[in-house]
Amino acid sequence: MAKRYRVLIGGEWVGDDLEGIDVINPYDDALIGVVPEATAELVDRAIVAARAGFRAMAATPAWKRAEILEKTSELILRDREEIAGIIAQEAGKSWKFAIAEAERSAETFRFASLEARSDHGAMVPMDASPVSAGRFGFYLREPIGIIGAITPFNFPMNLVAHKVAPALAAGNSLVVKPATKTPLTLLKLAELLEEAGLPAGALNVLIGSGRVVGDQMVRDERLAMITFTGSPAVGRGIKALAGLKRVTLELGSNSPTIIDAGADLDKAVSRCVVGSFANSGQVCISVQRIFVHRSCYDQFLAKFVAATKQLVVGDPMDRRCDIGPMISTVELKRALQWLDEAKDLGATVETGGGQVGNCLEPTILSGVTPDMQVMCSEVFAPIVSVVPFDTFEQALDMADASVYGLQAGIYTNDINKAFQAIRRLDVGGVIINDIPTFRVDHMPYGGNKESGLGREGVRYAMEEMTNIKMVCINL
Ligand code: NAP
Repeated sequence: MAKRYRVLIGGEWVGDDLEGIDVINPYDDALIGVVPEATAELVDRAIVAARAGFRAMAATPAWKRAEILEKTSELILRDREEIAGIIAQEAGKSWKFAIAEAERSAETFRFASLEARSDHGAMVPMDASPVSAGRFGFYLREPIGIIGAITPFNFPMNLVAHKVAPALAAGNSLVVKPATKTPLTLLKLAELLEEAGLPAGALNVLIGSGRVVGDQMVRDERLAMITFTGSPAVGRGIKALAGLKRVTLELGSNSPTIIDAGADLDKAVSRCVVGSFANSGQVCISVQRIFVHRSCYDQFLAKFVAATKQLVVGDPMDRRCDIGPMISTVELKRALQWLDEAKDLGATVETGGGQVGNCLEPTILSGVTPDMQVMCSEVFAPIVSVVPFDTFEQALDMADASVYGLQAGIYTNDINKAFQAIRRLDVGGVIINDIPTFRVDHMPYGGNKESGLGREGVRYAMEEMTNIKMVCINL
């Protein structure tokens, strides 16, 4: 019998009386748990609890919030193996990447603990204008209120951490809805936050369909903000429905990597393998489009194919596994269809392309054109395309020819070209001499164009999650 879970609402674990949602291991389709499905009444109860939680957070000084966050970080590290197992089983992420995610989440909470202590306002020089000279001015940053967080399946702990940790650091309360396919990691995190001493109601968990539960959260006027990570289509819908709430959107991409002549190909290859195929390419900053200078194109492709063939595809719980399953058979079929379309339009499969159980082999394409889905849409699968270029300007044009703008990676030894790319590309982050998949959790992170709105990275998320209150004192 699979374990039946409860959800945390207002400091109590509830949900025995509710319908259950099955949580399935995407690798072998085994039932790994049953979670309570939120009703409209439970959503309302969670928001009422979050109101009380917000009052409790307001009464919790910064040093205490910092202590709770630091303790949570320690507890995540204590239980990281268990957490990695949960992530591997519910999200299909290979164990080596799952444990890395657990460790990164601990760091996200540690950064939040540091920021909780240092989040403050600033002086405003009132004598900069003759109108206000003689006055004294400063602003405070105050918590925005109840935050609704809606999260995707692909980083079930760290992307939740990127919402929960800064929200609590800034003194807010939350109602969190994880992806329906991956709720167990959040339930574990909720247990750890409770153990760390989080006040009742500061974190409330709702599990259920985005279209129903997510929609009800987005429409509710009592929430001050929605912080969403997921697909652009859902993000658009959320923004349209959210009314006057603050909304931040962390959405998708088809991230480019440029490899200029003279770049260290071995280094680029080893990083492109990770960036293209980790978590079966189901990463918002996966390497999807690689543009390689024609002078080293053949050499790069040969090395890239050889390194990709070494990857171990299979059970994510196997410590040697590199590539686990796609999140669902629906997504697997969609990826295979896009591959077929690319092949029909003339693309060549350099390696991979086959299905192994619920996994898709890591796949490299050449001979692609910009109109193929694998190039112009977010592929979100272990499929990467390699394209030659003749001039750096041409590479920048191709990299930027996207509706997305999350991060770009540029391998070059020429500082002038690096700055040309930094100035030119319409993206939220330019990563020089590494892949676009590079991220550490305290850097500002987010996208332009269809890749989103607002920034995460603990301090930057806290800015989004607070209101400025200006104080002018007429002396
Ligand atoms: P998704 O289908 O958009 O789902 C994300 C979350 O939104 C889930 O909790 C989902 O609930 C919920 N949802 C669905 N429809 C909703 C609605 N109408 N109203 C409110 N909530 C709704 O995305 P996903 O497949 O889980 O994740 C993949 C996407 O996330 C990719 O596009 C990827 O690039 C993006 N992503 C972006 C970042 C970033 O930082 N930029 C990071 C990771 C992932 P259900 O699970 O119940 O459908």
